[in-house]
Amino acid sequence: MNATIIEFPPTVTIPPHLVGEVQSKLAYVDERIAAAHIGAAGDNIIIELKEPLSTAEQATIEEKVQRVVVSMAQGAIRPKVQVLEDYLDRRVPFNGDPMPELARRGEISQEAQGIYVLGPLLTRLVDWFEQRFLDLAASFSAQPYRFPTLIPARYLEKVGYFRAFPHSLSFATHLREDLDHIDSFAEGAACDQHGNLNAPFERFAPIQTLLSPAVCYHLYFTLADQTLPPQGVTATAVGNCFRYESLNLSSLERLWNFTMREVIFVGSKEFVLENREIARQRMQRVFEEIGFAYRVESANDPFFIGEFRKQAAFQSAFQLKYEIRARLPFKDSTLAVGSYNYHQDFFGRHLSIHLPDGSPAHTGCVAFGLERIVFAFLAQFGFDLAQWPRSMQEILQ
Ligand code: AMP
Ligand code: ZN
Repeated sequence: MNATIIEFPPTVTIPPHLVGEVQSKLAYVDERIAAAHIGAAGDNIIIELKEPLSTAEQATIEEKVQRVVVSMAQGAIRPKVQVLEDYLDRRVPFNGDPMPELARRGEISQEAQGIYVLGPLLTRLVDWFEQRFLDLAASFSAQPYRFPTLIPARYLEKVGYFRAFPHSLSFATHLREDLDHIDSFAEGAACDQHGNLNAPFERFAPIQTLLSPAVCYHLYFTLADQTLPPQGVTATAVGNCFRYESLNLSSLERLWNFTMREVIFVGSKEFVLENREIARQRMQRVFEEIGFAYRVESANDPFFIGEFRKQAAFQSAFQLKYEIRARLPFKDSTLAVGSYNYHQDFFGRHLSIHLPDGSPAHTGCVAFGLERIVFAFLAQFGFDLAQWPRSMQEILQ
């Protein structure tokens, strides 16, 4: 039978804390999937297809979906969620979805899925939050850096990124240095109705470079094979980051191309953990001043299927990641607008960054997603400036 919706129970029930995580991975199962939904109880999967498929083809997709489910959910133990701050109940003046109003005002212009131009209001809001993050960086005397948008494949390979996050990689290449290839491309290059460039693969050089998925990696590679000064290294940078999130790309919440501001600490274990904690406390005051509704809780990175269970359990056991999750009143959910991260001596060991005593350095970073924090702010405070925190009303003057 040809159908465009397939529905079936998972081989193992998906525990509630993994429903969102597994669902987001189903986007990568097959190109013919248009949408995937897992019931809140974790016992029902609904797959919407882009085109009708034969029973055999449907069975193949179901089998692949089950592989994801088993790999991520079988024997999974719910990690104890540790809450460091909880201000989710703060009263905020707005409960609408900012996207329609942003579109009406010409404040967003979508170039493609997950790629947006931001208008003057959004840009001024980004700048306002940026200033708070720069103040945070200055309070640690962080040294400013500018990192490239591109990152060598060799770098990501060295820190295990291909194994952990293959699904979200974005690759960069160029035409091969060959006059015939370049001439043919120049004459015939065109996009089809789907926006696909018609150039054959062999015209492009082998991939040696990707679009960078994070900011702090660049600093760690700069420090590779070095011994740190006794006071450690504290740095800050803002950068374009790229994570291809497939069907999960939606509104300003989940972008392919987004911007991150980081404050980065490299030194002893105590140095990194103490500064991460101080940064959290300083940001707590900033969020209090504007009356932001959020909470800070332990979290894990969105590792790909095979790596998920082991790596997520590891992060949770060692309290390596905390997320700042802002309330989105219009959908009664939360969105991660930043994170407080500790990588232990992972980068120190893999990149030979040493402390003066010869032991591997520890690293950590505080990272803020600029588009997301602005989106969450508008979702809580809306567009009536009279309702905004007083310190922010002047951004439009
Ligand atoms: P992470 O390093 O994964 O903790 O990311 C740091 C911050 O970047 C997150 O808390 C988000 O605010 C932001 N971020 C991560 N992925 C995306 C995305 N796909 N779109 C927009 N912002 C993102
Ligand atoms: Zn980082």
